[in-house]
Amino acid sequence: MPYRVTLIPGDGIGPEIAEATRAVIDATGIPISWDVQSAGIDIMEKEGTPLPNRVLESIRKSDAAIKAPITTPVGTGFRSVNVALRRELDLYACLRPCKSYEGVRSRYRKINLIVVRENTEDLYAGIEFQKGAEETKKIIREIEALTKKKIREDSGISIKPISVTGTERIVKFAFEYAKKYGRKKVTAVHKANIMKFTDGLFLEVAREVAKRYPAIEFEDRIVDNMSMQLVQNPENYDVLVLSNLYGDILSDLCAGLIGGLGVAPGANLGDKHALFEAVHGSAPKYKGQNKVNPTALLLSGVLMLRHLGEEEAADRLENAIAQVIREGKYVTYDLKENRNDPTAVGTREMGEAIIRELKKGAQKGARV
Ligand code: NAD
Repeated sequence: MPYRVTLIPGDGIGPEIAEATRAVIDATGIPISWDVQSAGIDIMEKEGTPLPNRVLESIRKSDAAIKAPITTPVGTGFRSVNVALRRELDLYACLRPCKSYEGVRSRYRKINLIVVRENTEDLYAGIEFQKGAEETKKIIREIEALTKKKIREDSGISIKPISVTGTERIVKFAFEYAKKYGRKKVTAVHKANIMKFTDGLFLEVAREVAKRYPAIEFEDRIVDNMSMQLVQNPENYDVLVLSNLYGDILSDLCAGLIGGLGVAPGANLGDKHALFEAVHGSAPKYKGQNKVNPTALLLSGVLMLRHLGEEEAADRLENAIAQVIREGKYVTYDLKENRNDPTAVGTREMGEAIIRELKKGAQKGARV
């Protein structure tokens, strides 16, 4: 029986990298029945919602889903499909491995960090009060009465919920990941010295969960110090677990350590469903040009194969991607020494080079 995988082609550069990814994953020989489901702004015009129910239904029935980026237009009232998917499917863990590949230009070498970001709570929960609105004035009065602290009348307000439930499951996820993949240490990142009832709670729960995993080292860092540490001594860290906002910011910092968004994969995971996607967005200015780097979505495909238990195919695919990048010949403009290098190839051609590499590997394997 083939695996059933929902493929969301997205928009902007999405369809191009999705197509390359599908072809490359098929070339691993793992049988997959793809259910292609469109979502996003074009669908909003046709179906009245950017995230029709059929997309969610498909993911619920599938073994996994892989999604290319979707544009979130600013200031149109269009809710982010990405945030809605995470919420609807309770994909509470965002996993972002940051690993150096030889041939990718970066100031750092041999980075191998795992960022685990909580996906459902924190300032990202979307509980916001607009400056000047009646409910905002009410909230301000209420807070002043309860805390005796003054809030300026012309303030907007965002609420930061952090729960025991949400923290416990994300920290447990980080430790289980560490255990499964032989990682040595988990670092919890917070600002508990200032936000005692939210970040303080996060830290307290993390310490409790850590006691259940005595074989794995546990430590914590304050987020500002962590930012500096990651820039100065990234090799001192292994698995990081963070609440939603710090995770959002530091995962981009870590993507910067390995050479940028073009090579940073991600996964959104819950207890029942799994959605794999690149860290980068839909880069609309490159839409339809067959230009951008498919690596981030391809490496998300590697994560998907691992999630499906296809570790051997995942290793083969990761090696093939790494080899094409190391050779530096059939790579997109962003992976060339000089971004204007005329020998840079397109999205599709880089995918084809990876397929050739996979086939070479298969022939070598057949000879052994
Ligand atoms: P972006 O990641 O789309 O692009 C920023 C820049 O990074 C690009 O201009 C390009 O220079 C570079 N880049 C990104 N992906 C690349 C690739 N594969 N190869 C080579 N270079 C690449 O970020 P943005 O411009 O801030 O966002 C554009 C849209 O994407 C926004 O609407 C945003 O909301 C959305 N977005 C979606 C997702 C998602 O679907 N998960 C994630 C982030 C942003």
